[in-house]
Amino acid sequence: MLLARAIAVVAAASSAMGQAVPAQLAAAEIPLATAPFQGSAAALRITFLDVGQADAVLIQAPEGQTALVDAGRRSPTDALQALGVVGIDLLVATHAHADHIGGMADVLRAFPVRYFMDNAMPHTTRTYQRLMEEVERRSEITYLNAEPRTVTLGAALIEVLPMPPLRAGDQNNRSVTLVVRYGRFSAFLSGDSEVRQLNFLTGRGAVTPVTVLKAPHHGSHNGFTAAFLRAARPEVIVISVGRNNQYGHPRMQAVVAFSSTARQVYRTDWNGTITVLGFPDGGYRVTGGEPSPGELR
Ligand SMILES: [Zn+2]
Repeated sequence: MLLARAIAVVAAASSAMGQAVPAQLAAAEIPLATAPFQGSAAALRITFLDVGQADAVLIQAPEGQTALVDAGRRSPTDALQALGVVGIDLLVATHAHADHIGGMADVLRAFPVRYFMDNAMPHTTRTYQRLMEEVERRSEITYLNAEPRTVTLGAALIEVLPMPPLRAGDQNNRSVTLVVRYGRFSAFLSGDSEVRQLNFLTGRGAVTPVTVLKAPHHGSHNGFTAAFLRAARPEVIVISVGRNNQYGHPRMQAVVAFSSTARQVYRTDWNGTITVLGFPDGGYRVTGGEPSPGELR
């Protein structure tokens, strides 16, 4: 049972490096106080937290294993606790900007964390330094390189897509990008990828049809390409974006492109926290939180 509950790095799938996964990372059997969430036990739950102009995406496997991809600008620990989180198996910082890692040091202090992954691109900010100090202080946390590999999270899989070269020096365009799979259901988590990274991914054939897409870069004008959307063909798109944000996100051209691609487009500034339940047959159920004043206008 412990093995079934343990997170394990199972394969360096299509690894460009062709390296085997280090033995100590395979089938790690560390009991963690994760608890199955309430509700449909056969569903993968992905929660796009309403964290304003920022990103925080919680993934809960049917068996209770938990991954958190980004942690908002401010501490999301209360929201995570309300969602039943008592530990995090895999914590991912897609890139080092404050709207993705600002709340992450608090997350590390509030919960046991087993694996940490980032884009391996240091940043000069105090926010980044504080996060890395906290990661380094926690010797029990295992660092995972963001390279093509598959991480099992209970019955779900998290695929890490190829990373653009480090020398590019551009945080957004070196976001850790992930595809979460549970049977035929899948979700593409894109960080703040812009056109350059989206072209890199589509050019390598790394983008395949998915059920759900987290809109790259908060629905920015540079957060989509026609080729990327054609390849991903999402049925649902979720835009994580703040009310009346200073960037004008989401941009009209992105919303138009998303609306002509997906059946449903949700945005956290209008729909609040958005929960997607994914089922092995590819089905899904989306629920939004309280409507914000913006939606009622
Ligand atoms: Zn961002």
